[in-house]
Amino acid sequence: MDFVTLKDIAAARERIAGKVVATPTVPSASLSRLAGVPVHLKLEHRQTTGSFKLRGASNAIASLSADEKAKGVTAASTGNHGRGLAHAAKLEGMRAVICMSKLVPDNKVSEIRNLGADVRIIGKSQDDAQEEVDRLVAEEGLIMLPPFDHPAIVAGQGTVGLEMMEAVPDAATVLVPLSGGGLAAGIAAAVKALNPDVRVIGISMARGAAMKASLDAGKPVLVEELPTLADSLGGGVGLDNQLTFAMCRDLLDEVILLSEEEIAAGVRHAYEQEREIIEGGGAVGIAALLAGKIRSEGPVVALLSGRNIDMAQHRSIVCGDAAREQAA
Ligand SMILES: *Cc1c(COP(=O)(O)O)cnc(C)c1O
Repeated sequence: MDFVTLKDIAAARERIAGKVVATPTVPSASLSRLAGVPVHLKLEHRQTTGSFKLRGASNAIASLSADEKAKGVTAASTGNHGRGLAHAAKLEGMRAVICMSKLVPDNKVSEIRNLGADVRIIGKSQDDAQEEVDRLVAEEGLIMLPPFDHPAIVAGQGTVGLEMMEAVPDAATVLVPLSGGGLAAGIAAAVKALNPDVRVIGISMARGAAMKASLDAGKPVLVEELPTLADSLGGGVGLDNQLTFAMCRDLLDEVILLSEEEIAAGVRHAYEQEREIIEGGGAVGIAALLAGKIRSEGPVVALLSGRNIDMAQHRSIVCGDAAREQAA
């Protein structure tokens, strides 16, 4: 499949204007001090639905024909894509069926139900949930809009990259949470088209980092999905990945992995120093900086990708218990 280009991303931006928030980018005094270079935070957790996933979902739905819209949409999700898709479908008056595994936190499930979507909880992994999606496509004719491996989804997520470069034109390094790679592929395509010298670094949790394992193997591989504080970064890349594996392989400069303790420290720092509530998967950029794993010659932009954390878990992380429990 052809890579998503700057032109596709610019078109996505026009298509979703008015449907998504252009989120702010702000300097972080504490992280700038720590890193020795200016560090900026892209506050995408303030997006409607609490994550950037609304961008890709809105672009994909806006790209459907009237016939396809009438059939309704379905997807497997670790929660945030399902919520974005349910929201975008509701605005169009469309049916949405979201399939999720038991690993998806309850708060994410109930937010999706509240949007009026049909929610199915199937099995213990994204792959199990995907089987139900495949059945819905085959038997009920629903249109599948997957969470990452789809050109309209990648182009929608790439609009984050355009906003980052407008906010920080002299950015040297961009930090992007990485799971299936739709976000990182879209951002890297946008950022590198505007300035090929910017380094784009993907960041995942060490527990079940499917894209990192696949990049190391040179092809998409299966990785066991494990509970992690970065639940929105769980799930595989798909053994028949068409787009995001190749884009991440060719466009990302580096992939960094973090322990559960490091991720917890990122969530805690976001709360105490930046006064922001960020979910584990959204805090990995901050976490990588705190862990001393980022070297940059110039300004850094770290993407805070989501805020949909269970608040009891957030309290436990802020109080320092959660990473020990998860690692135990
Ligand atoms: C989905 C998600 C990611 C990762 O996006 P991919 O396109 O799957 O790599 C990062 N952060 C949050 C909060 C997410 O929901």
